Amino acid sequence: MQGARPLSACAGTSSCPSASSPSISPGADALPESLRRVQQIVHQPILFQELDITNEAALQELFSKHRFSAVMHFAGLKAVGESVQKPLEYYRVNLTGTIRLLETMKAHGVRNIVFSSSATVYGDPKYLPLDENHPVGGCTNPYGKSKYFIEEMIRDLCKAERDWNAVLLRYFNPIGAHESGMIGEDPQGIPNNLMPYVAQVAVGRREFLSVFGNDYKTDDGTGVRDYIHVVDLAKGHIAALKKLKENCGCKIYNLGTGTGYSVLQMVQAMEKASGREIKYKITGRREGDVASCYANPALAERELGWKAAFGLDKMCEDLWRWQLQNPTGFSKN
Ligand code: UDP
Repeated sequence: MQGARPLSACAGTSSCPSASSPSISPGADALPESLRRVQQIVHQPILFQELDITNEAALQELFSKHRFSAVMHFAGLKAVGESVQKPLEYYRVNLTGTIRLLETMKAHGVRNIVFSSSATVYGDPKYLPLDENHPVGGCTNPYGKSKYFIEEMIRDLCKAERDWNAVLLRYFNPIGAHESGMIGEDPQGIPNNLMPYVAQVAVGRREFLSVFGNDYKTDDGTGVRDYIHVVDLAKGHIAALKKLKENCGCKIYNLGTGTGYSVLQMVQAMEKASGREIKYKITGRREGDVASCYANPALAERELGWKAAFGLDKMCEDLWRWQLQNPTGFSKN
């Protein structure tokens, strides 16, 4: 924001290009090459500092060197399955990291934050579409709980100290890629999420998709989610930064489209975008999955002036362009 230098501080273990954390698998979706390409797209250098968000001294040094007017906090571990195996790592990195970040911000007079939360805080939906008043906290895994706990910490902080402003963004299912095809999702190892997996089947890297259950109470029996184009999601953050300037206190918004699609509808949409057959097999349900989850995004439209602009075809076309141009992701092999 005004007077602030653009700086991307990669903080936290799994999101850093080369941060080392021996006990955690390198789920590094953020690679140095991706940052190089972002700079190519925006035609300007981006100041980048790698650090571990749990390292208080490093955070202090960073905040001493630069004057920030706001922080967008994306750093954290993010694999649901892994969080069940390693709960303490997840709480240490996500919770301790956030506490250290907030303390450092406070010490340096920075009181504006946008936090990446998740629709997972809603748990198993009691009604649909999900609005921001839906009960939260019924999360079934440490990853989701860590998002919920962080939301609560930030809310308490804003209540206790009135000069803080926070926008908590509850993401639904971000997919797609930048339309240049230069940057996109590059999961290391076997993709956990549906669309990166589907894209890898389409490009021939994987033989078939396992569809996790077709006996849900949905139209075709497969799980329904609210998929949102990643560029729409990014724009939601710009809208959130503008909101902070109004001294908004603590605000919470869903970032979703409001429309749910089933796994089989997603497979079909990707077949259309790629012109290729996507083989799949129906397997058992994945533990912890809910039948349907989609947003009521009306509050974000009303208060942020933000609304998802891109539909399913565009999401799949952009994802396919990225996958086709980069069949092995950012690596050159
Ligand atoms: N899914 C699937 N096969 C996969 C990955 C996901 O059938 O290999 C299903 C999953 O059961 C859910 C939907 O696709 O119904 C979206 O899953 P994803 O992991 O992308 O998002 P989340 O479940 O976290 O919302």
